[in-house]
Amino acid sequence: MELNQKLRKNIASLAPYSCARNEFSGEASVWLDANENPYNEPYNRYPDPLQFSLKQRVAELKGVPADCVFFGNGSDESIDLAFRIFCEPGRDNVVAMEPTYGMYKVCADINDVAYRPVPLGAGFQVSHKALLDAVDGHTKLIFICSPNNPTGNAVPVGEIESLLESFTQGMVIVDEAYIDFSSQPSVLPLIEKYDNLLVFQTFSKAWGCAALRLGMAFARKEVIDVYNKVKYPYNVNLLTQQKALELLENPSRVHDWVKILLCERERLRENLASLKIVCEIYHSDANFLLVRVDDADATYNYLMRDGIIVRNRNKVSLCAGCLRITVGTPSENDALVDALKCFES
Ligand SMILES: *Cc1c(COP(=O)(O)O)cnc(C)c1O
Repeated sequence: MELNQKLRKNIASLAPYSCARNEFSGEASVWLDANENPYNEPYNRYPDPLQFSLKQRVAELKGVPADCVFFGNGSDESIDLAFRIFCEPGRDNVVAMEPTYGMYKVCADINDVAYRPVPLGAGFQVSHKALLDAVDGHTKLIFICSPNNPTGNAVPVGEIESLLESFTQGMVIVDEAYIDFSSQPSVLPLIEKYDNLLVFQTFSKAWGCAALRLGMAFARKEVIDVYNKVKYPYNVNLLTQQKALELLENPSRVHDWVKILLCERERLRENLASLKIVCEIYHSDANFLLVRVDDADATYNYLMRDGIIVRNRNKVSLCAGCLRITVGTPSENDALVDALKCFES
């Protein structure tokens, strides 16, 4: 299906805001076009609305064309924009695996779009058939979180490709917030093959920059063009662009962090496995472990009184009795295990 037919009607015909800087390209030394204060450089100037330098750098690093990259104020902006671009409020719906990242449903509710959760199978496995069964003529988005939060497992690329082949009336969104920790490859190269694929990644996890609020979306140029049309003109501020560029001067730091965290994840798994209160530790392709314990609420409360905060997922579907534990530094992980030993005895 043509992209234009997938878009909300008002978005297909939208004339975007044209900022002063967009209407001029070339060299200039006197900037009197944007009502900025001429003092207090460099913060007096509006930032680059399309983040040219950062986009070049990320495109190079990820091996995709720069016009296939979008930056948002966290992945949360990319998620919200998907609803605003593709879904007619009060009419359309989206399909997602369940349990998964909570923001998809919150954004659906905010945008008055029906949310259709499809329970994961045994071992938290995703079935493209079950997801497609939930699709009807008004389904515009299918959300796949891989590796999934909070279950931790990655979705097999074959399942994602089956969805991409079958679901052509809207977009398949693959949220890869944790892909740097995964043994499974990213589906990013598939944006060349499939015009219905949107891939989200973020600077918030492996990249160690949650405070910057910088999310990435990757898709065919036509899709990214619509994203650029609908976003706030200056959605990524100057400090964020500068800090991200700084980090990218030395990407090996990120690789080092990931290596340590993966070692720690397995060490933490072994240490937790030796505890009597731990019933099950699920497979993880991410920087956290989903752990089933005897009494999740009591364990959570005990840890909290000890100043150790984990995520209680006891009330999440299929996750009864589970805590989601982020992998920290070696000493943080030791503190957690020590506290659990005290709780046990
Ligand atoms: C943490 C997380 C994100 C990150 O969101 P940002 O807005 O980029 O910080 C996105 N998706 C999932 C599934 C996450 O767990």
